[in-house]
Amino acid sequence: MRRLLRRLRRQLAAARLRVVYHERYAFAIPGVPLDPSRGEHILAFLLDRGLVRRRHVYRPRPAALRNVLRVHTEAYVESLQDRAVVSGIFGVELDADQAEQILDVQRLAVGGTIYAMRHALASRHPVVHLGGGYHHAAADRGLGFCAFNDVAIAVRRLQGKGFRRPVLIVDLDLHHGNGTRAVFAQDSTVHTYSIHNTSWDDAPAVATTDVALGGGVTDAAYLAALRETLPAVLAAHRPGLVVYVAGTDPAGDDLLGDWNVTAAGLLARDRLVVDQVRAICGPRTPLVVVLGGGYGHGAWRYSARFLAWLVRGKAVEPPDDMELTLRRHRSAFAGLDRALLAGSGSEWALTADDLLGGDPGARRESRVLSRYAPQGVELLLEHVGVFRRLRALGYADAVVDVDFGSGLGQTVRVFGERERQTLLIEMRLRRDRRLVAGGEVLFVEWLLLQNPRARLSVRLPPLPGQQHPGLGLLGIVVGLLVLICEKVGLEAIVDVPSQYYIAAVGHKHMRFLDPAAQARFEALAEALAGVPLAEAERALAEGRVVDAATGAAVAWEPAPMVIPVSERLKEMLRGPAYEAAVREARARLDLRVTGGSGG
Ligand SMILES: [Zn+2]
Repeated sequence: MRRLLRRLRRQLAAARLRVVYHERYAFAIPGVPLDPSRGEHILAFLLDRGLVRRRHVYRPRPAALRNVLRVHTEAYVESLQDRAVVSGIFGVELDADQAEQILDVQRLAVGGTIYAMRHALASRHPVVHLGGGYHHAAADRGLGFCAFNDVAIAVRRLQGKGFRRPVLIVDLDLHHGNGTRAVFAQDSTVHTYSIHNTSWDDAPAVATTDVALGGGVTDAAYLAALRETLPAVLAAHRPGLVVYVAGTDPAGDDLLGDWNVTAAGLLARDRLVVDQVRAICGPRTPLVVVLGGGYGHGAWRYSARFLAWLVRGKAVEPPDDMELTLRRHRSAFAGLDRALLAGSGSEWALTADDLLGGDPGARRESRVLSRYAPQGVELLLEHVGVFRRLRALGYADAVVDVDFGSGLGQTVRVFGERERQTLLIEMRLRRDRRLVAGGEVLFVEWLLLQNPRARLSVRLPPLPGQQHPGLGLLGIVVGLLVLICEKVGLEAIVDVPSQYYIAAVGHKHMRFLDPAAQARFEALAEALAGVPLAEAERALAEGRVVDAATGAAVAWEPAPMVIPVSERLKEMLRGPAYEAAVREARARLDLRVTGGSGG
C-alpha cells in the first residue's frame, strides 16, 4: 500500500512539469563550445527517469515576425540579412547558410519561450524551455551568441495581450543580462535581476537589481549574494510571473566561465530561487525556466539535476555519457530487424562483391565484422543518430563507404557529400583473438571523428595530430560499438592509444589490459593533474615528465586499453586481483613534471 502511494505521488509529481523542446535545437555553431546535445540529453534523462511525461513535451513554432518586432527594431532585424552582422554576434566567421540556420533556430527558440510562458500562466505548473535565455540581445543589436531576446519578446507579447501583473526575470547566467535590462529600462512592471561576473551596462533602469561579483567566485559567496538580495526583490515587486534564466556557466568546469561553483552549489542556487519564489509569492506562482548559457559536454547535467529536483523534490543524479548513450541506443537497436542488418533476404542483399563481380573463387569478406552488410552499417548509423547530428552540422548528404581492403578488418568511412571530398568519420575495425586470452574482441585500429568545416577554437588549443575540431559524436560511436560487441558476441572494445591524451580522454570508461600499464597511466595522470591536455602532451614530448627516483624522462608507451563488454572481462578488469596488481605497480612509481616551457 505504501509503495502504491509512493508511486502515485511520483506520477502526480511528474504530471506537473511541462517541457518545451525542438529537435532543431541540436544545431552546432562552429567554433562555439555549446554542446548541441544539451537539450536532447536533458530531455532523454527526464523521460527515461519518468520525471516528465511524453505528452507534456511540446514542440514550439518559430516566433511570428510581429512578435519579434515587439522588442527589436526593424532596422536591426533587417541588418541580420548580412552574414557579417550575424558573424559578429557569434564571434566566428559564418557563411550565409550557417547564419540563416542559426537565426532560424534562435527564432524557433523565441517561439519556445513564448509557448512556455503562455503555458505557465494557463496551467500554473512550472514550464521548462530547453533552450532560450538570449539575454544579451537588445532592441537594436545582438551580442554574445544572442540574436533575439526570447524572454523580452515573450514578456512584451504577454503585455500586448493585456497581462498587467508585475514580472520578475531572475537571470543567474554567469554573464550580465544586459540586453533584457536595456529592453525594460523604462518599464517599472518588469524587474530585471542579475547576478554575474562583470557588468556589461550601467545605464539607468527603473526596476533592476545588478550584482557583479568579479572572477573566481565560490559557492559560499554566490549563495550569500543570492540570499541577501532576492527575497527583498520578491517581497517588494510581488511578481505574478517569474522567468528564471538558469544558466549553468558559473560551474567550475565551464569552458567559458571564470567561477568555481560546484555541482552542489548550483543545485543549492536553483533550489533557493524556486523555494523563495514559492515562499514569498505563493506556491503556484507561474514559473518559466529557460536554459541560458552552459558550455562543455557536462553542462547538461547541472540543468538535469535541477529539473529532477523540481519534479521529485530531491536530488537525482544523471547518468554519465556512456550510460545515457547506451540506453538510447538499446531502444534504437530493438527496432531494427536482424535480417536487414545482415543484409540477407532483403533489398539490401547485394554486397559490394555482387555489384563489382568479385572473384567467385576467393573467399572475400563482405560483411563488417562478419555481420553487417555496408547498407546495414549505414542503417545503424542512421538509427543511433549519427546522420542526424551530421545533418545538424550542415552535412545533409553524408555517405558511407566500407573498404574491405585485404580482408584483414574493414575501414568504415563517412564523407560529408557524394563527391567524397570531406572525410568526417574513419574507423578501422577488426575482430581479434590474440589480444585477450580465451576470447575474441573488437579491435579499433583507429577512430577519427572530425569536422573539417569548423575551425579550431582559439579557446581550446589543438591537440597533437588534431587538424580539425571533433563532431561531438565520440559517445554515440563508442556506444554503438559496445552494442555491436554485445550482438556479435565480442568481449570488449580494444584500442592502443598512441598518445597520452587519447588515453586521458577515454580513461573514465576504459582500463589498460595490463595492470602495470594502468598503474603507469594513473601515475602520469596524477603528475599531470590540472594541466590542459595539449600542454600535458607537450611536457611528455619534451621529456619534462620524469621519474622522481631516477630523474629519467618518462615517455608514453602505447598499450592495449579496453572497454569490457562481457561479464568475464568486466570482472577481470574490476576484480580484486587486477586492483591489487595496479596498486602494487603504482606504489613503485612517482612521476613529476619539471620546468614548464611557459607556453
Ligand atoms: Zn552566460
